[in-house]
Amino acid sequence: MEKKKTLALIAHDGKKQEICQWAKNNAERLRNFNLVGTGHTAALVEEATGLPVKGYLSGPLGGDQQIGARIAEGKIDLVVFLWDPLHTQPHDPDVKALLRIAAVYDVPIATTRRGADLMLTSPLL
Ligand code: PGA
Repeated sequence: MEKKKTLALIAHDGKKQEICQWAKNNAERLRNFNLVGTGHTAALVEEATGLPVKGYLSGPLGGDQQIGARIAEGKIDLVVFLWDPLHTQPHDPDVKALLRIAAVYDVPIATTRRGADLMLTSPLL
């Protein structure tokens, strides 16, 4: 049997409701992944879906960097990162670093809900 891929979930505060709704709508698909996420996002998605989501630190406290490090180690296969384009973030440098490291390792990263839908339904998965 093929090994489960690991999907990282991150959403800024303005996008938390959206990622929970998205995760609920996609719960059956998400069941096929090992789920990880930044602290609050992980807890909320776990609560919304009933699926286990391993939580790293909260994003502003280093969670984005932890996920970036896992990407560099080859331990994360896909990322859904709903960042908030309407508000500045105290950890903006970490956000940029995460986007950069995902690009360095060519890890698919969806930054919108529809992008995440496309990623999860891609035949290339
Ligand atoms: P959080 O972090 O899931 O712990 O809120 C997300 C972020 O702001 O990067």
